Amino acid sequence: ATPTSIMVGIGRGAELGVLFRKGEALQLLKDAKVVAVDKTGTLTEGKPALTDLLVQPGFDRAQVLAQVAALESRSEHPIARALVAAAEAEGLMLPAVSDFESLTGLGVTARVGGVPDGHVAPAGAVSAEAASSAGVASVGAAPAGVAPAADSSSAAGVAERVGSEAPVAGASVLVAVGADRYMQTLGVDVSPFAAEAQKLGEEGKSPLYVAIGGQLAAIVAVSDPIKSTTTAAIRTLHEQGLKVAMITGDNARTAQAIARQLGIDDVVAEVLPAGKVDAVKRLQQRYGAVAYVGDGINDAPALAQAEVGVAIGTGTDVAIEAADVVLMSGSLQGVPTAIGLSRATIGNIR
Ligand code: ADP
Ligand code: MG
Repeated sequence: ATPTSIMVGIGRGAELGVLFRKGEALQLLKDAKVVAVDKTGTLTEGKPALTDLLVQPGFDRAQVLAQVAALESRSEHPIARALVAAAEAEGLMLPAVSDFESLTGLGVTARVGGVPDGHVAPAGAVSAEAASSAGVASVGAAPAGVAPAADSSSAAGVAERVGSEAPVAGASVLVAVGADRYMQTLGVDVSPFAAEAQKLGEEGKSPLYVAIGGQLAAIVAVSDPIKSTTTAAIRTLHEQGLKVAMITGDNARTAQAIARQLGIDDVVAEVLPAGKVDAVKRLQQRYGAVAYVGDGINDAPALAQAEVGVAIGTGTDVAIEAADVVLMSGSLQGVPTAIGLSRATIGNIR
């Protein structure tokens, strides 16, 4: 290909909403053997919603949801936003949160309890009755304006952190939400929900677990709709002779169910953000040149590792910076378009 034809190809791409940040990408794309795709925000809308919440005997559903939402109000993960929105939709008051801790790709923990922090209900609207109907009574129905009783540095706080007692009225309690492997690291047995987890996963929903005071309290599921353009884009990639692989931090059973639905050839699930690069390396060994498509901060290393990094234009700045190609449409459709352009410009070797 001549420099002129590459310029023409890049210009044509721009018209189609495919921005080649490097001319090299236009030359390399025609040789891609596999398109590796991040799931959340790339195949899916990236806007999960709560679909299921099942509590263990002895736990109150509304109270658990309020505690979970309080904790998740400190996280920026899309899953967190789904859980906060669900509690808001039910008009729940969220208890106060302290000692928030997030483990990327695993889950979140914080001390939850004391007075409601006014996140949902207007200040001054906290009566004992309201607190009780909102399910926050037994996590701490202290009057509004009174500081939470427990302090993480107090002896009681430390004991509670390591202990596994049920929530006590008026006290704050340690709440954890996350993947099954996160519960494993916390020493929380999730097997009571094994059947539910399997069913939810097979439905393509992502199961999460809630531990309260060190005890398994609930299983929660969120579901993230697949973008309307995803199915056709994958079909076109297959027609172009490419394999399609999904790389995700999500649950393996959930990822498999979604992959089956979309006709995806290869699935790498339950990867920690750092594991995405290794997953790309394995695909390179197995298939050859990889085009990696992603939108998140944690996709940047994988975008750099792939022969061609493709960022979804609606994604994070970090992903766009790391990419060779940016899809302005925000849809996976741009990938077969880019590959078609590369073949037309550089010459179809297939
Ligand atoms: P992905 O972007 O593929 O969903 P992440 O690495 O962001 O992968 O998350 C992987 C998994 O970690 C999630 O599916 C979920 O189980 C768990 N997780 C991450 N953040 C949170 C959170 N704020 N609350 C609950 N679970 C979380
Ligand atoms: Mg993503």
